[in-house]
Amino acid sequence: MKKAIYPGSFDPVTFGHLDVIKRASEMFDVLVVSVLNNKVKSPLFSVEERVNILKEATKDLPNVQVDSFSGLLINYAAEKNINIAVRGLRAITDFEYELQIAQTNRKLSDGKLDTIFLTTSLEYAYLSSSSVKEIASFGGDISQCVPDFVVDLVREKYKNIIQGETL
Ligand code: ADP
Repeated sequence: MKKAIYPGSFDPVTFGHLDVIKRASEMFDVLVVSVLNNKVKSPLFSVEERVNILKEATKDLPNVQVDSFSGLLINYAAEKNINIAVRGLRAITDFEYELQIAQTNRKLSDGKLDTIFLTTSLEYAYLSSSSVKEIASFGGDISQCVPDFVVDLVREKYKNIIQGETL
């Protein structure tokens, strides 16, 4: 069985992530999409919410599993007996960051965890979770960026945040 992990924050999942997920799911028998529980970032959606969103968004891809993890990716990958990580590359700025992480993971895992990169489909090259959140926070249209049910969930979050601020 060829297995891979696609780790990330997915806060929230975008069409760019979903494109990588679909393409990677065709390359492996099992693709585990795993939400990193990163204590440092303050996310819009909780880990549980992000896992549920990813499950809904990938429900038509039978070999995709959704999970979450904390701590080092190399430990999580070893626990799952997986030695390939998938990451997406949009631009040269992603490359510098991703290269460093990939090399660190290979070194720390004694060569056991390797990373493969899928270059973004051109129509999603501009997309990031942070720009989705920024647009939504100003009431902009994010329907080109995320699935419809995610548009509603993001809107709901910002409605609550704005209401909370004005109370
Ligand atoms: P991070 O894990 O750095 O917090 P994300 O959860 O936003 O980042 O993204 C997870 C992975 O998906 C990263 O490898 C990132 O480069 C990639 N990615 C994000 N958006 C896109 C996109 N539009 N096209 C291709 N890959 C993307």
